[in-house]
Amino acid sequence: MFQVAVYGKGGIGKSTMSANISVALAGRGLKVMQIGCDPKHDSTRLLLDGKAQRTVLDYVREVPIGKRDLNGIIATGTAGVLCAEAGGPEPGIGCAGRGILTTFDTLRKLGADDLDVDVRIYDVLGDVVCGGFAVPLRNEYADAVVLVTSGEFMAMYAANNIMRGLSNFDTGKPRMLGIVLNSRGVDGEYEAVKSFAEATGTRILAVVPRDGQFAEAESLGHTVVELFPESVIAREIGKVADSIVDACDGRLELTSPHPLDDDQLSDLAAGRAIRPYGDVPVSRIGCGGCHRTTIEGTRVMGSCAAYGAVSAFLRLEDTAVVVHGPVSCSYLMETTRAKAMLEMYSRGVFRRSPRINVRSTMMDDESAIFGGNLYLKACLERTISEGYSRIAVVTTCMSGIIGDDCLSIVDAVMESNPSVEIFLVRADGDMTGEYNDGFMMAAEAIVETVDTGLEPDGSLVNLVSSSFFDVQSVAHRKELDRMLGAFGMRVNCMFLDEGSPRPPSEICRAGVDVLMNDTPTSRELMGMITRRTGRLPFPAVMPVGMHDYLDWMRQMGAWTGRSEDAEREIARATAEYRGFLDAHRDTLRGRTAIVVSRIGTNLDWLVDVLEDMGVSVLRYGFFPSARKAGGRQSSRHDHVDDYTDDDLMRDLEELRPDLMIGGIVRQVPEGTVMAKMNRIGVGYRPVLEYVEYLENTLRLPGMEGWRGGGRS
Ligand code: ADP
Ligand code: MG
Repeated sequence: MFQVAVYGKGGIGKSTMSANISVALAGRGLKVMQIGCDPKHDSTRLLLDGKAQRTVLDYVREVPIGKRDLNGIIATGTAGVLCAEAGGPEPGIGCAGRGILTTFDTLRKLGADDLDVDVRIYDVLGDVVCGGFAVPLRNEYADAVVLVTSGEFMAMYAANNIMRGLSNFDTGKPRMLGIVLNSRGVDGEYEAVKSFAEATGTRILAVVPRDGQFAEAESLGHTVVELFPESVIAREIGKVADSIVDACDGRLELTSPHPLDDDQLSDLAAGRAIRPYGDVPVSRIGCGGCHRTTIEGTRVMGSCAAYGAVSAFLRLEDTAVVVHGPVSCSYLMETTRAKAMLEMYSRGVFRRSPRINVRSTMMDDESAIFGGNLYLKACLERTISEGYSRIAVVTTCMSGIIGDDCLSIVDAVMESNPSVEIFLVRADGDMTGEYNDGFMMAAEAIVETVDTGLEPDGSLVNLVSSSFFDVQSVAHRKELDRMLGAFGMRVNCMFLDEGSPRPPSEICRAGVDVLMNDTPTSRELMGMITRRTGRLPFPAVMPVGMHDYLDWMRQMGAWTGRSEDAEREIARATAEYRGFLDAHRDTLRGRTAIVVSRIGTNLDWLVDVLEDMGVSVLRYGFFPSARKAGGRQSSRHDHVDDYTDDDLMRDLEELRPDLMIGGIVRQVPEGTVMAKMNRIGVGYRPVLEYVEYLENTLRLPGMEGWRGGGRS
């Protein structure tokens, strides 16, 4: 089978030429099939008595997979030419290019390749050569390409674009057959097209005059070739058919076109002589990406922006989350989330069973072509009918690429359901966006729901962080409650955590906003709250270890005007800490340790307590973080930034410490014990528990330490 792609600007006469060529080929004894690939879907009408045929994409939409049959999409037309028509979505919706791909896929799956056909003609729209409309140019389809153009600049511009597309699919095999000049009757038309053909290294196959016979034949639903076989038109079309036959039999050589560059196109537009090529290699014009063979850099994305947004919304008790995308996206999100939940469960974290309720609009092939708006609407209505009055819609790459106008759907659904509030987070805007980007977009939307009119209560505290892992175990939570209890305070809202006593909208009920941990994301969240509420955040981060604990107590005393409570707690805690040190005085004394962490995770509390216990810290090193390259760690102790594996290995060999402690897991030499570090919690008691873990670890032989798992 010989396949010919006929390309050209919309309205230039591709379908008219294609149908005439098909009939001419059939007249030469060939079995022909014509496939229309223009959303205008009128390619085959001149072969079917002027009638429109059912399009492949409509068929795919209406007939379920198991019930499809090739006869449903192929019609037999004039002179036995087999006809198929791709069809396409409404203008402005979905992705017509993707529709071409599905059409070809459907034809192949239903067995079109087994039909007895000598020549296949693809009649393709050439205005937009996006990946979808370029499918017929792919190696497995077009053996030869015919361009239909007039002498008008825009028609040649489109033809030139097809050549660019063709050279981007270049496999070394020449495939350009030539140009059909379909005359418009403009001045100097033949000369213009001739100089274009010469400059691009191709030929004019035929010159079709502008003629009323086309309209006449069209009104009868037939081709000129049938009705006026002796006409000039029939003769010229005959030349094209002969060229195809010759190319098919190897008697006519195909060429590799040299599409014009932008400067040459400007010559063509101005009617000047087309200048010779510049230095740009022809095969590189138009597409830099195709020639890239390596992926630069090695950083792997943690997870996508859509998941970041979903995971933020999942922390809200009353909000249903709708992922506008294929079901696999939601599946991956759900399993990732479930895994995280399972880990928390195993640490006794949850006070109530966690909710992992992600819905998908289940975008599929159909919605990728015809648009996913109806899917989104249906999913929203279903969710509302289940009783949800707060819904978060998160878009994915798929809806982003096809350009679904989700906002209008969200607005319309809210309009007809006035009691329902729908957040829309367009996580598709940036396909390289990461978890944090999506998380922050969702947080922005959530902060908008804060009711700023509530009366603040001094005994209530908000905690702000992107992660509450530190206080999710029962023991760690107890320590937190105890700390706040020293001032007669308790938690109002944990922004953003599923275990939050009150929803984010009620943030303003609390008198104090405290940063849970010192990460850029947590600080950004606090910034959002500050901007929204105009409230000043408490200046100190939740403390870890004795040093910060005492400092925090003092500051909270001053902030709340309850310094007496602070002093009482400081005295009590100091006494408890001293008592602990006395009781454990000799267990670690005289030992040596190397403490390692990553930039961004301060372990000063550990160095403090080790020194208090009589341990000498020989090295305190920070590994660089992939996300914070070149960062410096702030610390109260002597430390090494940009600490590397080599440094660590050398130090372990030379310094031979008793302990290697920290968030980095490495093989340690004989005689050194490795102690793992997990979430430590807040306050000072978890630190004392960690010391007990170290004592136990040191009682165990050699490498056993890492199996102990540390505090969590
Ligand atoms: P396309 O498929 O490129 O969009 P069509 O083949 O549908 O374009 O042609 C558009 C219109 O132009 C049709 O009505 C057709 O009859 C008319 N037409 C095409 N070529 C000629 C010509 N050489 N002379 C007169 N009318 C023409
Ligand atoms: Mg057409």
